[in-house]
Amino acid sequence: MVSRGLERREFLKFLTIAMAGVASSRLMEVARVDAAGRAKITDVKLVRLRVEKDLGSYPDWVGNPRHVTIGGGAFTEVHTDQGVTGIGPEIDPSLLPQVNAILAGQDPFDINLLATRLYDVRGGGMGYRGSAGAEIAVWDLMGKLANQPLYKLWGGGRERVVPYASMLRLSTPEERAEIAAKLKADGWRAIKVRSSFPTLREDVQLVEAIRKTTGDDWIIMCDANKATFDEAATKGVRWDFTRACQTALEYQRLNVYWLEEPLPRYDYDQLAELNRMIYMKLAGGEGNRGVHEFRDLLEKGCFDIVQPEVMLEGPSHLRMISAIAQSMYKMCIPHVGDMRLGTICDLHLIASWPETTSPYIEIFNDQPIGNYTYPFSIFEEPPALTKNGFFELPQGPGLGMKIKEDLVLKS
Ligand SMILES: [Mg+2]
Repeated sequence: MVSRGLERREFLKFLTIAMAGVASSRLMEVARVDAAGRAKITDVKLVRLRVEKDLGSYPDWVGNPRHVTIGGGAFTEVHTDQGVTGIGPEIDPSLLPQVNAILAGQDPFDINLLATRLYDVRGGGMGYRGSAGAEIAVWDLMGKLANQPLYKLWGGGRERVVPYASMLRLSTPEERAEIAAKLKADGWRAIKVRSSFPTLREDVQLVEAIRKTTGDDWIIMCDANKATFDEAATKGVRWDFTRACQTALEYQRLNVYWLEEPLPRYDYDQLAELNRMIYMKLAGGEGNRGVHEFRDLLEKGCFDIVQPEVMLEGPSHLRMISAIAQSMYKMCIPHVGDMRLGTICDLHLIASWPETTSPYIEIFNDQPIGNYTYPFSIFEEPPALTKNGFFELPQGPGLGMKIKEDLVLKS
């Protein structure tokens, strides 16, 4: 009996210790979940940045001045009750009350719901300063809470992406050929030029000149920017179907990788007809809105490559659009973004998609003044072109970017 009593006592003692162990490990688990996933958003703020240097402006392809600064502008911060903060592109200050009403008190991991609500926040003339910037900041926050870079959170796949140098000026065929040769020597693998000359002859000469200096196989893309009816955005040079067709055939002969926006955005029938006539790829979609428009563009055969803009659509929509494109064996190569946190977001999205879907990232790099390192200079360690022509993926959690502390204006 004595021994049985002892055994029983020992057993009860063991049980007590064991249960305490289970309870404490459960507590730890709960604490870990609280720390990792159940953070609550407290508020959304804008942080303004000091202009370090004003570099002046240069004319884009229709003659509008593009102002270049180092520093300046702002970024969006999404704060939580756990001291972890997500960052995203600048949003228009007038959106802050609505965005705060949607996000404050919410779990950032309820992103499907939050992104849908944010997408419905529309403001006239917001352009690239709409609510998508706040959605990007919530994704950055999730990456930080999960301690993973966004491209890994989105499924991973690629550690580097090839940037293409996107030109903003029209310039002359000779100067464009010169800059293309310089870019090639610097390690860039591809260029995109603006086909916005008054005549077909000049548009063809532009590509012929670049081919001559860069060789038969270097990647050349051409952007006609003819998707809009806004005369100011096309400088009065509109293409009808004949001009679009003639240009496409000439560019196909010159081994152009894609022709972008040859016809109005909603002219689905003629876009599809042109696309059936050529084997060169047609690209477009930078101004389309809503997943359904991209589905229509692909279903109707308008484009081989859709180019959604993350600053208009937000990352959640871009992931859906890419999935539709993948299901139809088409490409999804996002439009340029804001050349700051939005473009870094594109880099993560693209790296999480197959290379066959998204082989390139668009980077404005019309040197000397339109140098991509200027907008990227707000970051402590921005991506930079490697010798063999890649951008490596940032390895920090979320977007993996830190804004230089000395640029932050204390309000
Ligand atoms: Mg374009």
